[in-house]
Amino acid sequence: MARKMLIAGNWKMNGLSAEGIALATEIKTAVKAKKRTCEFLVCPPFTMLSTVKKALRGTKVALGAQDCHFNEKGAHTGDVSPLMLIDSGCSYVILGHSERRADHGESNELVCKKAIAANKAGLKAIICIGETLEQRDRGETVDVCKNQVLGSVPDDATALNTVIAYEPVWAIGTGKTPTAEDVEEVHAQVRKVLAKKLGKTQANKMRILYGGSVKPSNAKEFLSLPDVDGALIGGASLKSADFMAIADNASC
Ligand code: PEP
Repeated sequence: MARKMLIAGNWKMNGLSAEGIALATEIKTAVKAKKRTCEFLVCPPFTMLSTVKKALRGTKVALGAQDCHFNEKGAHTGDVSPLMLIDSGCSYVILGHSERRADHGESNELVCKKAIAANKAGLKAIICIGETLEQRDRGETVDVCKNQVLGSVPDDATALNTVIAYEPVWAIGTGKTPTAEDVEEVHAQVRKVLAKKLGKTQANKMRILYGGSVKPSNAKEFLSLPDVDGALIGGASLKSADFMAIADNASC
């Protein structure tokens, strides 16, 4: 089953407009410089979405946001709706990142509501899952990830509107990573749960990204695994050379 690799940058709460324009322009130039088999995505902070969209004009690099509300509009101070993201040029939204689950108490149920709303508006949802170090030490990694998939992924999700990102919480921004065997095991188990929930066809087509301290030097190891269909990249996505080297080293 050929799944198109997705190389996605999560810029988190970093950068002002000038830096965002510079980074997007560098990525645009590098993506155009040679034939690529993967899809590229950048997810800047809300404040830069329209600006970065303009900077990316003329490339296929997609634009995504890092969160959205589940309502279309209304009295939700500080929130941004899926339609507003579409209006800013987004085609993707990251949902349920562990930093949002931790900092904002986001539950599986809330992530699922957001994903339903995002899909309804026409956005592809990148739904993040992953275990904490304590859960890993207790041997709960696979169960935690399965439960997050069951609770966070809408029942009618499809491979066209949903991407899963497995990001062990303890690997995010720490330079630590699981072994390739560990990653493949979780991805294969996640695909099994997706098959039970959504049917085999959708599960086989759905992309499952790995995220957590991905860098040029380990990209090949993770991105060549059979059930890994791309990467969600934090720190290394803020330098165009590193972001592009991850795709280069994974030969996509
Ligand atoms: C992330 O937060 O999505 C992430 C994977 O971060 P990093 O690459 O910095 O570990």
